[in-house]
Amino acid sequence: MKLFISVIFMAGLGVRMTKGDPLLIVENLKAYYPSKKGLIRAVDDVSFIIREGECVGLLGESGSGKSSMALSIMGLFERVARFAAGASSDPELRKAFDKGLQGEVDKPGLSGKVSFRGKELTKMPQEELIKIRGKEISLIPQGLGHALNPQHSIGHQTAEPIEVHEEEVRLLELKKKVLEYLGVVQLADAGLRFVLDPGCFSGGESQRILIAMALIAGPYLVIADEPTSALDVTMQREILNVLRMIKEEFDVSLLLISHDAGVIAELADRVAVMYAGKILESGAAVQMFHNPQHPYTMGLMSSFPTIAMMQIKAGKKPRLRGIPGDPPDLANIPSGCPFHPRCRYVIDLCKEKIPEDREVEPDHHIRCHRWGEISEE
Ligand code: SF4
Repeated sequence: MKLFISVIFMAGLGVRMTKGDPLLIVENLKAYYPSKKGLIRAVDDVSFIIREGECVGLLGESGSGKSSMALSIMGLFERVARFAAGASSDPELRKAFDKGLQGEVDKPGLSGKVSFRGKELTKMPQEELIKIRGKEISLIPQGLGHALNPQHSIGHQTAEPIEVHEEEVRLLELKKKVLEYLGVVQLADAGLRFVLDPGCFSGGESQRILIAMALIAGPYLVIADEPTSALDVTMQREILNVLRMIKEEFDVSLLLISHDAGVIAELADRVAVMYAGKILESGAAVQMFHNPQHPYTMGLMSSFPTIAMMQIKAGKKPRLRGIPGDPPDLANIPSGCPFHPRCRYVIDLCKEKIPEDREVEPDHHIRCHRWGEISEE
């Protein structure tokens, strides 16, 4: 079933742009929040673009700032960070959020620019953002356990994005649309089970329901935050198939966030590799998986057997090696290049100076002092 196949078309009040046009532009984004340990630099001077119709994979280990990036785009960062930092119950942290940390050069909060379809989201008041969130940009959140409300039927919850954004919807039409989208994500017996509450559904089924909720209002951009991480291997495969079908048959762009390079390799057209709040390398997926050039990307790609298999098929000789050590604490990021304590190519300069973001070829960015000098051994 091809739902949308035209390159340019009218959708409700919005006009889709041409495939390949910039849809979301993130420029020098910083998202910091205070904690008892100090300032957490969750997103630290990040820039990237998502174009119409493409899937960008955001890859990185846990705690690299990927979910904070998703929340920043959705305009939810401050609200969630306040809660996560315990700022609602701790007067000191609340003060730090409101005024900035004493003695810190940087302040908690969001800075930089996020533009979506020509509108600057970072300057938009929450009343305006609410009209975009769930309708033009939607989120498939991480963590199935608390993503669905246990007290409402899944039919009711799937309908919610439409009820929130459209003033007059007839009940019959709404039910038809809910069943249509639960059908799109292949929820078994949706016509009989849409009146049940989330407790009656498995993890894989709950993920399908969340995908239907993210799609039902016809968004331009869907952010899928670790959509397979809570699932077993068989279910992961099924959810990836659903996401692939959405990518191919809906005219929607995807930001796919995962710590698993195998998941990103399945769907992404371009990949951005995140570490300690920064994007260390970004470029076309083929380039990133077959010929990674940043030492961290090289390490990541040598950590996943699925990527090694991909490289073997492409006639390369991969080596499963992994990366020594652990990702840094975001409240205590190493000086210079944040990857230097784990990097096999480190030199003195790396410990002193943060590498600049360089466009080393069209659409291929790297932050490494030694780019061009090193290659994978
Ligand atoms: S800048 Fe230095 S430490 Fe950082 S990745 Fe490059 S070589 Fe390694």
